[in-house]
Amino acid sequence: MLIHKLMKKITIAIDGFSSTGKSTIAKQLAKSLGYIYVDTGAMYRAITLYAMRKNWVDNQKVNFEALVQALPQIQLVFKYNEVLEYSEIFLNGENVEKEIRTLEVSNQVSRIAEIKEVREMLVEIQKRMGAEKGIVMDGRDIGTIVFPDAELKIFMTASPEKRAYRRYKELIDRGEEVTYEDVLKNVQARDHIDSSREFSPLRKAEQAIEFDNSDMGLKEQFERLYNYALRIIKNT
Ligand code: C5P
Repeated sequence: MLIHKLMKKITIAIDGFSSTGKSTIAKQLAKSLGYIYVDTGAMYRAITLYAMRKNWVDNQKVNFEALVQALPQIQLVFKYNEVLEYSEIFLNGENVEKEIRTLEVSNQVSRIAEIKEVREMLVEIQKRMGAEKGIVMDGRDIGTIVFPDAELKIFMTASPEKRAYRRYKELIDRGEEVTYEDVLKNVQARDHIDSSREFSPLRKAEQAIEFDNSDMGLKEQFERLYNYALRIIKNT
């Protein structure tokens, strides 16, 4: 860790489809490099939760006028949890880390993430968080919009079935009552909305390294990405 303190800091942008395991690997990478980790999906999820609690979201439509008007009242803060060793998200002072991960929120979040004003607000906060570099950020538009100059850009992919299975296991382990079929449907629906939306659609950034982890364990993924990062850091 000491050696990393003496090295120049870079920005690492990790994008990709839902449930590709971006956050697991990004967290590990940040910890090993002594960098900050930011899960931008948590920010879109927290805004979705806020809108759902206000009854501004149902299966037919989103009351986006009300949400856009309320955006200045929404405060999002990440606080590092020493025990869990990652940052938890607080929505207007309340820890909502658990609530934002439910399938209900997953089913609505991509529609909220389509709203231009929501994206503008979050991208501005994200750019500020990364102003000093030394950051690993994951999401859908990090290498394209938030940090187009990031020194290392990764685009993670895996088959929808593999991703749905991983997510399904995670939700079951957390005690949620879900079926594999429902999770697969959610993953496919989010892929579609995220890739076809008008503002900042999910795209592989230029120079991004495409990383298909369908058949790769965590250790191998981490070692490969860590080595990419070290190579760039040494040459920066
Ligand atoms: O990463 P996660 O699956 O938690 O993200 C939840 C949703 O938030 C995505 O499906 C996407 O609709 C949206 N998102 C986004 N841009 C980001 C991060 C997440 O549009 N940078």
